[in-house]
Amino acid sequence: MEKGKGKLIVFSAPSGSGKTTIVHHLLEQKNLNLDFSISATSREKRGKEINGKDYYFISLEAFRKHIDQDDFVEWEEVYSNNFYGTLKSEVERIWSEGKHAIFDIDVIGGLRIKEKFPEKTLAVFVKTPTIKIMEKRLRSRQTDSEEKIRERLAKAEKELSYAKEFDIILVNDDLETAKKEAEELVLKFTS
Ligand code: 5GP
Repeated sequence: MEKGKGKLIVFSAPSGSGKTTIVHHLLEQKNLNLDFSISATSREKRGKEINGKDYYFISLEAFRKHIDQDDFVEWEEVYSNNFYGTLKSEVERIWSEGKHAIFDIDVIGGLRIKEKFPEKTLAVFVKTPTIKIMEKRLRSRQTDSEEKIRERLAKAEKELSYAKEFDIILVNDDLETAKKEAEELVLKFTS
């Protein structure tokens, strides 16, 4: 898996920091030559999600088998009995197409990828200037219940403590500026 010029670009962040928007923006920049790394998960498919686009939805049994066969770059039981992981075959697929893999995964998974491929990985931590702003953004999305928002904020505090282990902290104050900065970071790292 170490051969070739393909890189790994990891974007991790607490929810409400704008990470997913930034990753989508980067994927639209064709000159960056990126492809999204689709994770495997044992959780149920939700709403409009598509197998092979949002995730590879597999059974718990199949997931465990992949663990036993050492098929994962990294995996994690994010919630009880809900496993998530990056398959080696997924990264190979992207590299074989001559592209760089971009990841939208949680903080722990992101750091594991950096640990496995220290030279080939650019690990970016996205955060809002303050927790208060993150809270405001989470509330304005109006997709989560009060309980869920509190849960996400508590998780965010913990995740923020890992920020310093990333290569770069991207502060998302103004979204357009953050998108431009992200583009420049990726371009510099991959060229
Ligand atoms: P959701 O179920 O909401 O799609 O994702 C739940 C959590 O799993 C999110 O924090 C997401 O970042 C994380 N996640 C998604 N894919 C992976 C993966 O491949 N590895 C790890 N470690 N976490 C992942």
